Amino acid sequence: MSLWEKVLDLLFPPKCPYCQKILDDPRAPVCPKCQPRLPWLEGKAGERKIDFADGCFSPLAYRDPVPGAVHRYKFSRVRALGKPFAAVMAQCLADRLPEGADLITWAPLSRERLRERGFDQAELLAREVGRLLSIPAMPALEKTRNTGPQSELEEESARRANARGAYALLPGAVLTGKRVVLVDDVVTSGSTLSECAALLRQGGAERVFCLTLARARGDRETPEKKTKIVGKNG
Ligand SMILES: [Zn+2]
Repeated sequence: MSLWEKVLDLLFPPKCPYCQKILDDPRAPVCPKCQPRLPWLEGKAGERKIDFADGCFSPLAYRDPVPGAVHRYKFSRVRALGKPFAAVMAQCLADRLPEGADLITWAPLSRERLRERGFDQAELLAREVGRLLSIPAMPALEKTRNTGPQSELEEESARRANARGAYALLPGAVLTGKRVVLVDDVVTSGSTLSECAALLRQGGAERVFCLTLARARGDRETPEKKTKIVGKNG
């Protein structure tokens, strides 16, 4: 830890992203009280199918207290809040994809949304996961159409239509033969990720693996349960 980081820790002591209590261990991604209570996804529950991708991995379910923590991160403008999320995502990727990847990229915000929000949360997560696992992180996609928030669309068909054609491959992206990890914060219907994964394939990626912090309901296998994504018992 650098002196500057130590000073920052004294001025702004790192907090647990889920309960917001100050962490005894400033480098821990979660406090010891929240750790056993978080909705961790084990085994197959932490994987889901995404069209055009070879897998989609998420360490957590999108259930309390995860949605509140993600929301605080998205809208706080405090970029460092992403670090504890990236730490659990990096651990998840290392566990589920021990053979590693050649590069890591993300599902980007539109330029307009980026201006509003000040930073791209998926980019920061991707860059931090890349740093932790020594995988080069780089932009490969751009959002060419501002679609409005996916989270406000409950029907999967509406989400898919909303994502379709909204992204494009960046001209300079070199993907041929590469194993690519695609990062986003939350996966719900998977339409954004499948749209992005298809483009990465078109760009020559050999394999595409998706990685998100949390997995919400919205699987096509359980369409009758998809309308509410935040539930008490999953
Ligand atoms: Zn906590």
